[in-house]
Amino acid sequence: MNTTAASSPIKSNILIVDDSRDNLRLLSGILVQEGYIVRPVLDGILAISSAKTNPPDIILLDIMMPGMTGYEICERLKADEELRDIPIIFISALNSVVDKVKAFSIGGVDYITKPFQPQEVLARIQTHLTIRQLQQTLQQKNLLFEQEIRERKRIEDAMRRRNWELDLLNQMTNALQGCQNESETYPVLREICSQLFPKTSGCLYLLNEHQSELSVAVAWGGTPPSASVLKSSEWNMPGGRIFTIEQPKKKSLHFYVTCLEETEGIPYALRGTEKEILGILFLFFERSLADELDEESIRQAESRQLISTRVAEQYALYLANIRMKMELQMQVTRDPLTNLYNRRYMEEALANEVRRVARKRASLGILMIDVDHFKTFNDTHGHEAGDVVLQELSALFQKNIRGGDIACRYGGEEFLLILPDTTIEIASQRANELLRRVREMAVPYQQHDYHITVSVGVASAPEHGQDVHSLVNAADNALYYAKHSGRNQVVVFSERIRPTLEGVPAEHASEG
Ligand code: GH3
Ligand code: MG
Ligand code: MG
Repeated sequence: MNTTAASSPIKSNILIVDDSRDNLRLLSGILVQEGYIVRPVLDGILAISSAKTNPPDIILLDIMMPGMTGYEICERLKADEELRDIPIIFISALNSVVDKVKAFSIGGVDYITKPFQPQEVLARIQTHLTIRQLQQTLQQKNLLFEQEIRERKRIEDAMRRRNWELDLLNQMTNALQGCQNESETYPVLREICSQLFPKTSGCLYLLNEHQSELSVAVAWGGTPPSASVLKSSEWNMPGGRIFTIEQPKKKSLHFYVTCLEETEGIPYALRGTEKEILGILFLFFERSLADELDEESIRQAESRQLISTRVAEQYALYLANIRMKMELQMQVTRDPLTNLYNRRYMEEALANEVRRVARKRASLGILMIDVDHFKTFNDTHGHEAGDVVLQELSALFQKNIRGGDIACRYGGEEFLLILPDTTIEIASQRANELLRRVREMAVPYQQHDYHITVSVGVASAPEHGQDVHSLVNAADNALYYAKHSGRNQVVVFSERIRPTLEGVPAEHASEG
């Protein structure tokens, strides 16, 4: 007879349980001849332990046995998670319907009565082995299918997340493009990072020009740990962590961060156009426990790393860009010697302010300031000393004006201060105050202290002019009057000084 056991490459494993040695011998003989691997046992205890050690493909089970009956053995096997799927065929001399029904009800797959026909036993075994094999194949396929579904869902989730991240990254670059200055970029970074890494705190540390200090530009999710650039003498800082970042053409940057216990701080260098470090984006992730590092957590950490790196790169690009833009703007609007606004900027700013006066019925004061006898000063002390004086004088102006005021170098040794929302009285007061401070100013240069004085012409809108030209002209006239009245003084424009000016010699009248 040709059975699967004999023809299949893997021989099925059969456990026979019977208290009769003769029965065991007979059955084993038939099955071994058919190519099965047979394990005969004489009682329930042996049967269960044998099944546990090496689960068979099928069990032939006698019912009437001393100690444990076949029913009890069957029930115990069915109660065991690992063994319950092994098909059990009862072989018994009991021939009543009640016994047969009981056998099936407790989980038996078949029932053969003794005395049995070998052919019948073989046929039934073969049938149940086939069914079992089909079941197993199906279970395996189901398992694979479930795995595949899970994997597909994981990939879909990852793709969805990736798209969302790219979308946020896009939003960030769009928002950064609209930023007018550096400080406007900080909240953009904070917003994006808080969305991308919700359970994470973070901080943007910026490096100063000399790369000697790190300062917090913006932080989120909690108070940021303090960070400082390490000097070579400070290698043994207690607690916290030391990080090192390489940068081409410059010394590597070593810095120290007082990391929070429960977080894992990861630094992302923000690099400028020459790959030099502009600052550090620090993200403080919740610390993951070492034994939780399953495949999924590793994957998540990798993708987090990828997106944080992108955020840092993109942000650094815009930071470098906006700094360059500010620098260029500075060059266009500032006077290089004094760092005050240049004349070009002044004309624009003054035009704006004059328009505002008309629109808002506001007032506007302007001070035209000229250094007295500066030609003589240069001739006596040298042009370089003159330059230092102009720089110190400009610094003094900067220090003594209010937030909205605009100090400009009008040309040479002439300056114009624009004072929005200032009446003529206040403008005059402030001009006198400045005059006093200039008189008191000592400019140190090459072991000498130098002193100068200035003359100031004051005019205001709307009284002295409703447009830039007439307003500047009024201040200029007042200044001119101040010069001709002995210098080192403030003169406020008034109609009274006009006739006087008409009397001055032509070469003076054209000055200024
Ligand atoms: P006054 O009191 O009438 O204003 O006499 P002044 O000598 O100051 O006026 P003047 O217009 O005759 O000379 C202005 C001088 O300012 C001449 C010029 O060399 C000097 N000057 C203009 N720009 C600079 C500068 O950038 N640096 C230096 N050191 N001197 C400058
Ligand atoms: Mg002068
Ligand atoms: Mg002058």
